[in-house]
Amino acid sequence: MPLREISHPAIDIDLRYATPDNFTGKTIYDHAVAYLHQDALAALVRAAELAAAQGLRLRVLDAYRPSAAQWRLWQALPDPRFVADPRMGSMHTRGVAVDLTLCDAKGLPLDMGTAFDEMTEQSFHGATSMGAAAQRNRCLLLGLMTLAGWTHHPYEWWHYNLPDPTRYMPLSDGAEGSFLMD
Ligand SMILES: [Zn+2]
Repeated sequence: MPLREISHPAIDIDLRYATPDNFTGKTIYDHAVAYLHQDALAALVRAAELAAAQGLRLRVLDAYRPSAAQWRLWQALPDPRFVADPRMGSMHTRGVAVDLTLCDAKGLPLDMGTAFDEMTEQSFHGATSMGAAAQRNRCLLLGLMTLAGWTHHPYEWWHYNLPDPTRYMPLSDGAEGSFLMD
């Protein structure tokens, strides 16, 4: 299977869809382990090494997403600007997208101006309506991830995917191991 568990000393895992602490207010995932396609994992480890060299850590908020979970998100918010139509397949269901933020050396998240998954124009890259520190922190994450080979999403400061993600196939549910899904 191409999926690998994200495990690295400079990466914290905080899968929001494994808890009710997300925009739906509901638990979407049956698992709390974060997986990525092995190609994406290699790029994430590169970004984590660049962050660690600056005394920073990555915090992963979402990674591989089973298609059943994509349907649950779509039912909560059927707006293609923010949630991929599950019939088209999400970059997350291909295992080549990650939602994340930066933390300091103690694991305290840096100010990014908005919460994760805030569906407003404030979340767009290049938004200048928040403080300068938050704008700098977004640019720092953008720089680390771009150097490591990721592409950003214009409407979501937290979302990155590998370039040309449709060359990867959507993964069938259970690809991460049958013990995780019902
Ligand atoms: Zn995302």
